[in-house]
Amino acid sequence: MVKEKGLLYEGKAKKMFETNDPDLLIEYFKDDATAFNGKKHAIIDQKGALNKAITVKVFKWLEECGVPTHFVDEVSGREILVKRLKMIPVEVVVRNVVAGSLAKRLGLKKGEKLPEPILEFYYKSDELDDPMINEYHIRVFGWADEKTLERIKELAFKVNDCLKERFEKAGILLVDFKLEFGFDKDGNLVLGDEFTPDGSRLWDMETGEVLDKDRFRFDLGDLIEGYEKIMMKISRI
Ligand code: C5P
Repeated sequence: MVKEKGLLYEGKAKKMFETNDPDLLIEYFKDDATAFNGKKHAIIDQKGALNKAITVKVFKWLEECGVPTHFVDEVSGREILVKRLKMIPVEVVVRNVVAGSLAKRLGLKKGEKLPEPILEFYYKSDELDDPMINEYHIRVFGWADEKTLERIKELAFKVNDCLKERFEKAGILLVDFKLEFGFDKDGNLVLGDEFTPDGSRLWDMETGEVLDKDRFRFDLGDLIEGYEKIMMKISRI
């Protein structure tokens, strides 16, 4: 039985705890909602529990699709046991539909389907507002080597193929999402962090209703109602 020990790290929406096993951590999903790099903040009852449940469901799908993730087991209503990873400080975004910063940066119409997915990299830094970077920055500053970069891209597209299909079966359009990768103790590249509507855009395929954190960012409606709809739809798949 794994026992929770001290707090290792606290982020905007989660906490990581060490355990009595040096290779395992406990990931705790908080009720905090933040947007615009922490400029907008609220505590939303039930958010942590829903994000935990959605992450578990999605990580199980991904394991079925052959994508290695850090998920090990469920611990409680808002905690999961995960492998300790050495994280790469890069956020990997995959987009299927124009939205968010892509629409803004290039003056594109939101909702336009892309002929093929777009992959983008951002440097993980709150102080710098997660600036967009490319593969040269990642290699030159030593965040990942060429081989790792190739594997990251391969896994990110595999995640997209896997999730696009499953969400579609659930009646949800996978617009875009953010991933974070790290190395486990054996040196394998593994998907870490979480998969939640905090870090993805998910639209109801029939009605076009926004079900993700854009509800909170742009006051589009009750956040929990959207997250509950997602959970209800995906639990059938
Ligand atoms: O804001 P942008 O359009 O670049 O976001 C693309 C996707 O990545 C969205 O699903 C958003 O929720 C996610 N994202 C994230 N964390 C960030 C930036 C973006 O989860 N720091």
